[in-house]
Amino acid sequence: MRIGVLGGGALGLTAAYRCARAGHAVTLLERQDLVGGLAAGFRLGDAWLERFYHHLFETDRDIVALIDELGLSSRLWWKKPVTAVLYRGRRYQLDDPASVLRFSPLAPVDRVRLGAALALLKLTPSARPFEPFTANRWLRTAMGDAVFSTVWEPLLRAKFGEFHDQVSMAWFWARVYCRTPRLGYLRGGFQTLYLALAEAVRERGGEIRLNAEVESIASEGGTVAVTVNGRIERFDRVVATLPTRLFARLARGLSEDWLTRHDWGDWLGAHCAILGLRQPLTDIYWLNVNDPGYPFLALVDHANFAERDDYGGLHPVYLGNYLPMSSPRFQQTDDEVLTEYIPALQRINPAFDRSWIETMHVFRAPYAQPVVTREFPARIPPHTTPLPGVYLANMFQVYPQDRGQNYSVRMANRVAQMVLRSAAASG
Ligand SMILES: Cc1cc2nc3c(=O)[nH]c(=O)nc-3n(C[C@H](O)[C@H](O)[C@H](O)COP(=O)(O)OP(=O)(O)OC[C@H]3O[C@@H](n4cnc5c(N)ncnc54)[C@H](O)[C@@H]3O)c2cc1C
Repeated sequence: MRIGVLGGGALGLTAAYRCARAGHAVTLLERQDLVGGLAAGFRLGDAWLERFYHHLFETDRDIVALIDELGLSSRLWWKKPVTAVLYRGRRYQLDDPASVLRFSPLAPVDRVRLGAALALLKLTPSARPFEPFTANRWLRTAMGDAVFSTVWEPLLRAKFGEFHDQVSMAWFWARVYCRTPRLGYLRGGFQTLYLALAEAVRERGGEIRLNAEVESIASEGGTVAVTVNGRIERFDRVVATLPTRLFARLARGLSEDWLTRHDWGDWLGAHCAILGLRQPLTDIYWLNVNDPGYPFLALVDHANFAERDDYGGLHPVYLGNYLPMSSPRFQQTDDEVLTEYIPALQRINPAFDRSWIETMHVFRAPYAQPVVTREFPARIPPHTTPLPGVYLANMFQVYPQDRGQNYSVRMANRVAQMVLRSAAASG
């Protein structure tokens, strides 16, 4: 069978690898000049560094199994770096039960309430009981006003902006239930996994085509016609890993019913500035910014997690935001971004000086975070589409999980099975 895979992120590459390994003729079409999608990296020193901060949790078993299968296990390491919140100008560690009990912005009774509600989330093995509630309502009721307004409301507002009060509690539950304090990282960057997957596809006779922009998808005469950079290519089966909204724009012949039901919802884009500093900025890995007035919502000091030597001795620091794709931030030049960020960095570390900055990169991505509302699960499209031979699998179908490389890998394994079974059935 000729199998086309649209998109070369974690999902597309894993699906392509599974299909190529089963002996099919696979062509992966990726519009960028590098595989890896949202988890792709850029070169900094001797390593690849992700364009957007990435790590694994100990529960991410599917991607750990894939790393093992590709012979990269020796690069995978685990650590418990420090996560903290910035509140009223001070940093407080907040990443385990002991730090919850020490969290002095809250009264002792509220710390106990915060810890007890988090324990309840950790002990509940299903999202189901939380589905009727918004995170706002459940967290405020379970933890009280003081905890909600100090810890969660600033985070929800910073991450989801105008949608902050619509986010489903099921989504929030998954973030607590599945996440672990120990985090994993692939030495040299996750790009090494994606390059290894691309190589494994090629070794099995598959083709990875970069700078290949898919312009339309149509099922006709028993095959699937995909227009790529103005030329039509034909496949027996196609796995599209593009965001649902993009797929809906490119696919020809989707029913009105399908479009009304699934071409739905709101997405945020991701914006990340990465500074390569000559000196350390903080002594923590992850800082959630709970203070209003900062131009970024998270500061991720990667050198406090990974090996600084891999990056030519620099301390890479991510300054990240999720924003509506229409936000003026996406139009700003790198210098304009930096000018806004420097005073905030000086508030975090008064010694910080612009001269510490050796390198700066800014990355922007659309469709990076769906707004998972209570209605969201009813709107998720199935993997089979109204177009015969065309499967849709993307990171917005991993509900109640948030996005994550692990869930893209898991879905790719599942959808590849579906494709392989359908190929076997049609002889
Ligand atoms: C800021 C941020 C932080 C994150 N942190 C983590 C983390 O710590 N840990 C973790 O595991 N995950 C994290 N994630 C999520 C993780 O990046 C994603 O879940 C995963 O990379 C999704 O892979 P994918 O293949 O499903 O989608 P994508 O990576 O989006 O892949 C889709 C691909 O399709 C391509 N494409 C789009 N349109 C076309 C077209 N017309 N023609 C051809 N190709 C096209 C895109 O270029 C892209 O390469 C984070 C994401 C963001 C944005």
